[in-house]
Amino acid sequence: MTEELYPAAPYLAAVENTAPGERHPGFNKVQTYLERFGYLGPSTSRALGVLDDPTEGALRSFQEFFHLPVTGVFDDATREAMMRPRCGLPDVRPGELAFSTTCAWADRTLTYAFDTGTADVAGNAEFDAIRRAIQTWQTVGGLSFTEVAVGSSPDIRIGWRPAADPDHSMVGGVLAHADFPPGCSVVTNTLPKPVHFDDSEHVWSVGAATNAFDIETVALHEFGHIVGLAHSSVANAVMAPTVSSNFTKRALTQDDIDGFRALYPAAPQAWAGWNSLGGVITSDVTVGNNKDGRMEAFARGTDGAVWHRWQTTPSGDWSGWNSLGGIITTEIAAGNNQDGRLEIFARGTDNALWHRWQTTPNGNWAGWNSLGGGITGPAAVGRNADGRLEVFARGNDGAVWHRWQTAPNGNWAGWHSLGGVITSEIAVGRNADGRLELFVRGTDNALWHKWQTAPNGNWSGWNSLGGILTSNITTGSNADGRLEVFVRGTDNALWHKWQTAPNGNWSDWRSLDGLLTSDIAAGKNASGRLEVFVRGTDNALWHKWQTAPNGNWSDWHSLGGILTSNITVGSNADGRLEVFVRGTDNALWHRWQTRPFLTEEPTGASGAATMTEGTGGDMPSAGVVPQTVEMPAGTMGESVTTNGHEHPAAPAMPAGTMDASNNGAMSGHGTGVEEPAPDKMPAGDMHATA
Ligand SMILES: [Zn+2]
Ligand SMILES: [Zn+2]
Repeated sequence: MTEELYPAAPYLAAVENTAPGERHPGFNKVQTYLERFGYLGPSTSRALGVLDDPTEGALRSFQEFFHLPVTGVFDDATREAMMRPRCGLPDVRPGELAFSTTCAWADRTLTYAFDTGTADVAGNAEFDAIRRAIQTWQTVGGLSFTEVAVGSSPDIRIGWRPAADPDHSMVGGVLAHADFPPGCSVVTNTLPKPVHFDDSEHVWSVGAATNAFDIETVALHEFGHIVGLAHSSVANAVMAPTVSSNFTKRALTQDDIDGFRALYPAAPQAWAGWNSLGGVITSDVTVGNNKDGRMEAFARGTDGAVWHRWQTTPSGDWSGWNSLGGIITTEIAAGNNQDGRLEIFARGTDNALWHRWQTTPNGNWAGWNSLGGGITGPAAVGRNADGRLEVFARGNDGAVWHRWQTAPNGNWAGWHSLGGVITSEIAVGRNADGRLELFVRGTDNALWHKWQTAPNGNWSGWNSLGGILTSNITTGSNADGRLEVFVRGTDNALWHKWQTAPNGNWSDWRSLDGLLTSDIAAGKNASGRLEVFVRGTDNALWHKWQTAPNGNWSDWHSLGGILTSNITVGSNADGRLEVFVRGTDNALWHRWQTRPFLTEEPTGASGAATMTEGTGGDMPSAGVVPQTVEMPAGTMGESVTTNGHEHPAAPAMPAGTMDASNNGAMSGHGTGVEEPAPDKMPAGDMHATA
């Protein structure tokens, strides 16, 4: 399909440049365009075919909206902008420098239905594309959309129509149209509201295709009208009035989100109070999710063993504490195998890396097995694009070492060095395309990273991202897949930087303020909004969050309590975040979001507090007796009860010697040389008892 499919083009192309006061054949078509799209009031008198004063004012508004030179002359740039394929609704408030709104739905729970599709794409792919666009708006939080049958009185009815659409003509360069919410409608005053695509004059596609229009891109725009947004003059916004063929724009911009939030202000996220999960723990908490979504928490007990407890139903209550045995000398790392089985990793008394795993998804646990090596810090776990787990740890040479499953759910390759000399724990992120990326602090206290050059593939050299770090590194993944890292700076404030595009380059460092006395924990809300948690100078839990997916950040708010550990964030099966910390009684304490989306209330401000205030929670101060089972001070070799089944004694992790190994190359700047030296890491005694 080519330009001649846009009948707007030929007749505007034939109109000569026209200056104020001039008359040219066909200039009345320009006036018709200006009236159709809201620049020239229908009742405004004008001399037909003449660029008179009212028409000059309308032209200036159009030029301002499209960021053209505001000349009041119908010139080449103005003609080109008018010939672009566009939405059929008017540019309501010309001259606005950003989003503009009409009104919000009173009912925040909307239904939609499909009727006629298009033959341009196979099967029902056009409806799936529209469902994705609807989900993109829904995840901002504030409106929910449910699909119903077309005969079930939907609020919104979606389909393809001939260009001569009876409810709103799309003849010409118009691709599609929708309508605004009840009370602001321009097409119909009754339900259902239309979302109509022109099936006569345009070719539709799923994805960018030559001379075709991406359905999801156009649907995202039209549903912007459905939620109450008018056209934006921000050129790259979803709500800009024109769109190109062979193009996709499937993510909302900050301007679109700001407009949505102006109509549907975010309610404050509600959190339950502090509750104790008991125990006496001697490490930070590690939380994983079972295949069925149930969270499971792991911590070291006073006996040095790994203890765990788990939700008995997804998003539900918790079991008691059970021991997984062993004696561990680092914090615990957890990952999910490709088939969903949880697997945990920790250093033993021999300084080797040990692991144990669920034998079936959601099931019981195998015994401890050694992965060997002599490591000087906790393991970090990543999951490759194909589902293979990969573990990383610092060797006694200060370098990063790793080993990986050779097949999903399978056996492990030997230890290999990734070089460098690191002075922090290792953080693993996963790019939008599945490539793992590592983040560490170097000997210069700057942030360094390296990454797989292809999914499941080899690794780049070390590169510096600068800064001076006074904490470990925490990674998060934005709604659009862009990685973001969080650290504490020399001013004890929270600092972050992020990829400027998925899989892309990195921003500069920016401060998020605060005074931190812990590492940072990052969680991802159900809507895709990142949220970070830290301990403040009052030892309480503080958090801040993105106010929209991929968006800006709130102020700091306190969740109270008195923390004696770093913070761990878990996600319930229904998307609610839950935080886990150790209290002054050394028990595990948690609190959780009471709902996954910010959809309940139309308005509300977050209860502001400054981070220097100590708003108290209910977490007791020292001396309170734990309210559930105390973890016994155990000795190795005892039988322990796990998941209700009797297991043999966990094998003792033998004390080994650490192997001296090669030096890394990370102390300099620029790209380090990857150290090949495989298989030098195991300590001598590593295959004893498994
Ligand atoms: Zn539009
Ligand atoms: Zn229509």
